[in-house]
Amino acid sequence: MINNNKDLRVIRTACPAHCGIDCCGILAHVKDNRVIKLEPADFPDENDRRICLRGLSSLEITYHPDRIKYPMKRIGERGEAKFKRITWDEAYSTIISKFKRISEDYGWKSIGWVLGGPGSGTTKFGAYLRLASLTQSTRVSAWGYGDAGLPCGSRVIFGHQFPYMHLFGEFWQRKWPDLLVIWGSNPAESMPLQTMRKVLDAKENGTQVVVIDPRFTVTASKADEYIGLKPGTDSAFALGLMHVIFQKRIYNPEFVREFTNGSYLVRTDTGKFLRGKDIETKKENVYIIWHEPTDSYKVMRRSNVKEACLSGSFKVNGIECKPALQMLEDLTLQYTPKKTSEITGVQVDLIIKLAEKIATTKKVVFYTHMGFTRTYHGDISLRGLITVASITGHVTTSFSSGYMPAVLNWDPFLKAIPEKPSFHRMGILNLYDAVISEKPYPIKAVWFAFINFLNQCANSNKIINEFFPKLDFIVQTELFITPTARYADLLLPVCSFLEFSDFLPHPYPYLQLQQKVINPLYESKSDATIVAELAERLEFGEYFKGGEEGLIDLIIDHPLLKGVSRESLKKGAVKLQPLPEGGNFPLSFRTPSGKIELYAEQLVEDGEALPVYLPPIEAPISPSEKKYPLALINGHSRFRTHSMFANVQSLLDLSPEPIVDVNPIDAEKRDITNGDIVTVYNDRARTTLKARVTEGVKPGVLDITEGWWIEQFREGSLNHLTHDIINPVQDKIYEPNMHMNDVAVELMKYKGIEK
Ligand code: SF4
Repeated sequence: MINNNKDLRVIRTACPAHCGIDCCGILAHVKDNRVIKLEPADFPDENDRRICLRGLSSLEITYHPDRIKYPMKRIGERGEAKFKRITWDEAYSTIISKFKRISEDYGWKSIGWVLGGPGSGTTKFGAYLRLASLTQSTRVSAWGYGDAGLPCGSRVIFGHQFPYMHLFGEFWQRKWPDLLVIWGSNPAESMPLQTMRKVLDAKENGTQVVVIDPRFTVTASKADEYIGLKPGTDSAFALGLMHVIFQKRIYNPEFVREFTNGSYLVRTDTGKFLRGKDIETKKENVYIIWHEPTDSYKVMRRSNVKEACLSGSFKVNGIECKPALQMLEDLTLQYTPKKTSEITGVQVDLIIKLAEKIATTKKVVFYTHMGFTRTYHGDISLRGLITVASITGHVTTSFSSGYMPAVLNWDPFLKAIPEKPSFHRMGILNLYDAVISEKPYPIKAVWFAFINFLNQCANSNKIINEFFPKLDFIVQTELFITPTARYADLLLPVCSFLEFSDFLPHPYPYLQLQQKVINPLYESKSDATIVAELAERLEFGEYFKGGEEGLIDLIIDHPLLKGVSRESLKKGAVKLQPLPEGGNFPLSFRTPSGKIELYAEQLVEDGEALPVYLPPIEAPISPSEKKYPLALINGHSRFRTHSMFANVQSLLDLSPEPIVDVNPIDAEKRDITNGDIVTVYNDRARTTLKARVTEGVKPGVLDITEGWWIEQFREGSLNHLTHDIINPVQDKIYEPNMHMNDVAVELMKYKGIEK
């Protein structure tokens, strides 16, 4: 509490990040137990004291007249949104009896907790994980509703799922590079303050900014150079850059030898690494290099890897081998600037210039985020980007004067009883099969929390017609009757962010408390409280003692967070401690080789050991495509918080209805002018909305921003057009992604609703 007098209280809290992970600090002014104003709160660094229009408008969420005010049960058909008020006791009794029956018939694992990603709260998420772990039910991961391509790609090349520290951790610490390459990301709209502000600050300090994107975005409008490419061709573009870098011999051999597996010999007959067993040493699994000074093979050691050959072809015991980097170079041979230009639509000279700039500039940072990987092969696109960064030495491997990454005590949530098995884990795209076909096992009940599943997941008609009807029981915690909530059997009212406390480990390198500002309105409760009260009835109450505050204490109970407490966080953001002078925090690669894996042996059988270019599964990249010649993508709008909150009036005043952006060339071909009502369609559905004719999208591309509610469209919706095809390689690596930016459509002037 910053100020306290009879009339006015000012409480420091934090935006739970309607933009992902930025988490701006907020001062809430409270009068007569009502929040009357939000403003930015102080940060240790004045540059971070900011708030955007989404953060400001979140007060409208709290006091929105349409809030769900009490528990309700369905009385009409699913989808009709006919509900009747019930008590919390009745709600809990219904849940317990349904869960008991389903668990007796199918086992607890047939109950799935489908947890979304809005905001950065940890206890609301952790509480569900803890209960899922105690009941050994199924936690359905939401990575796959658009974001799983990123961890899939990062796991292969870095060995863990967050590539950020390696790519732009130092940028987050305001250490400006000479060149900033923003690839497939639009922070000006998706992360406007803590991230885009840094982009602009870097630019003011002399950083050259290049944006690579199929759309001429707001971020692109602030860049020194914009490179527009066709959707889904990023890995071809990466290979084209590498082609130039290899041909001009301007890669960084020292970095490649020390930090990547580029020097390890690969058998050309099997595609697997040459191992100790192939040369009959005692250690069967060691890697082998070709040692330049002695012109002979050697077991790879730290002492000799600096002298390893990176190119050429060698024979070891009659086995033909090449260094992994040579395999990569061989792959890039076909991606001449001319061919790369044909695939990506980027001019030849731009490809050559950018490759040279990346390789010859001292400090280059690559910035990307989730949207980049929302194509069928988005995981490989990410590997392509990281491979370019790695062969030129622009990956951060340690922070010599930086900060430790945020640490959380997450184990009590992942495994509440250490000696017992934990929850089952399932990707959200795999959930479709688990419900519809009962494979790999049946899911009969789902609990949706902070997720607008129907609105935001692919192939809406499949969800409505095949998925929902197969479920025995649907519970949802929500603030509003969203398109998904209309299908719930039981609706439980949850608090807005001003009505409960949570721990936010953002924006990096800060920790913050989302402090409860007012008591819960109506009969709403926080997710953590709902879980705790349900757990009590399931005889797991002892694991939730202290409610949401107890859970926060559990999370921050970590040796590296000594001195951090709820009380200290109430005063303001806490900056993670700098390392001791001269300290060095190594960022380790948890890959099989312990290095950046330019060559991924585990994907040899899948044909993806290298970051190959595989065309989009659906999005057309050639104008010769006849039936559905346009590629549909969906960007993020700065005028919307999460899709759960697509009903905030002040943001609707600025952006009142869904629109589709279409290039003038494509519009003219179809006799479409700015503001016309048009229908976007494919074999799955039709979606009708207003057209905006703009050169902001490339010819052949349509863009509809995501997050609009189904009922805000004149017909259909964005995700009626998308598909739920599973990429088996992503399924094998981690979990399959939904490929919202890999969709083929056609466009026409609206001719009336189709019967
Ligand atoms: S930039 Fe993000 S975290 Fe900051 S106020 Fe806006 S929505 Fe909230």
